[in-house]
Amino acid sequence: MSRTSIAQALKSSDFGSSVTVKGWVRTRRGNKHLSFIALNDGTSINSIQVVADGSRFTEEFLKPVTTGACLCVEGKLVESQGKGQSVEIQAENIRIYGTADPETYPLQKKGHSLEFLREIAHLRPRTNTFGAIFRIRHHMAIAIHRFFHERGFYYVHTPIITGSDAEGAGQMFQVTTLDLDNLKKTPEGKVDFSEDFFGRPTNLTVSGQLEGELAALALGAIYTFGPTFRAENSNTPRHLSEFWMIEPEVAFNEIEENMQLAQDFIQYCVRWALDNCMDDLNFLCQMYDKELIDRLKFVVENDFVRLTYSEGIRILEEAVARGHKFEYRIGWGSDLQSEHERYLVEEHFKKPVILTDYPAEIKAFYMKQNDDGKTVRAMDVLFPKIGEIIGGSEREEDYEKLKKRAEAMGVPEKDIWWYLDTRRFGTAPHSGFGLGFERLLLFVTGMANIRDVIPFPRTPKNAQF
Ligand code: ATP
Ligand code: MN
Repeated sequence: MSRTSIAQALKSSDFGSSVTVKGWVRTRRGNKHLSFIALNDGTSINSIQVVADGSRFTEEFLKPVTTGACLCVEGKLVESQGKGQSVEIQAENIRIYGTADPETYPLQKKGHSLEFLREIAHLRPRTNTFGAIFRIRHHMAIAIHRFFHERGFYYVHTPIITGSDAEGAGQMFQVTTLDLDNLKKTPEGKVDFSEDFFGRPTNLTVSGQLEGELAALALGAIYTFGPTFRAENSNTPRHLSEFWMIEPEVAFNEIEENMQLAQDFIQYCVRWALDNCMDDLNFLCQMYDKELIDRLKFVVENDFVRLTYSEGIRILEEAVARGHKFEYRIGWGSDLQSEHERYLVEEHFKKPVILTDYPAEIKAFYMKQNDDGKTVRAMDVLFPKIGEIIGGSEREEDYEKLKKRAEAMGVPEKDIWWYLDTRRFGTAPHSGFGLGFERLLLFVTGMANIRDVIPFPRTPKNAQF
């Protein structure tokens, strides 16, 4: 008989019908007369209860049916006697696909710490927590594509290996096929990259933005959604060395439209989670973060506060004057640390905040310069519990200004001549931003550590699995 998913079986009220379900044992309890097996197949946070009658299944047979074992169960769908569930399966036939020796199977029914589960990342998807997180991760990816598709954006694929080290967003991982034990040098004593695979130095991308802009200035509205890599030694709960980023870029949008797009986009994704992932969200809310669902609803229902960096600094300086202690000093010109961002969001406004018009010195060369000669049309979206979730800007469309700024910031023209060409030929105002997919997931799942929202996290000194 064909398999019924456990999610489907749990929704059915076709009592008395025959079903076949397949999945992994979460727990087994009972006595020699009656065994209760909680079976989960990943289609739902909820397991189905399989009742195995002692007259049909001997103790000997059921002995290897322990936590982690994989079963195929045929039986009758019946109304459940127990509370908390509506249906269960009266087993008629059980086939054991695979056992999991309790002596060596690392996942037992007692709860494990998230730290311990990180050490067994190959098995943690089998826990309720990670099942919920990875289902939500899937749903957020779907929501992102739907949001942009519904609005006429095109999905473009920007390169993962890049020949430019001028993307400006951070330290890069070098990609090479050179024999590191036996490097050929040029007469000047430098590594001879003409011998390397691409005949030049190459890196893993830190952002698809520059290529995204090329596409936006042809297709109008585009987005990228792909892996990005940063070789920074930031061991924080919000940084990964490999993460996924969504980068929309829109021709003719100015910064106000860019801000509205960012708000609409996040609200759409969060609403999608509330509409499609409620079972998983309820579980995470109960287990980890009692305010999770209220926080999600709040973000969907409220406009984000918009203010300038300078106004933000004034609020932070006033807080310091009133005796609030920050670890890092704050003043006009300094970059905001996560503690400052969170103060604005969590304590001052109690709402997500979009900060604009940052000092040019702390932002990338491609941001549109304001007339004050000091600030650029940058915008960061700051979120509760996270700090920066989005970084973006209106882009400098003036060829001369952009070229000068790139030079001043040490980005050589020979590396970005192709990017500068967009400003030589049919330039246009345009804007875009980058959303870190895992930062969005931190917010939506309420998890505290970014290593827990990606299946296989890469962080400094950690690339197992
Ligand atoms: P931060 O200041 O938090 O380190 P950033 O300013 O370096 O971030 P951007 O270059 O603006 O980040 O990247 C755009 C978005 O990508 C950020 O707003 C954030 O959501 C996400 N992001 C950046 N770096 C990381 C990282 N190391 N791990 C996960 N997400 C990241
Ligand atoms: Mn940023």
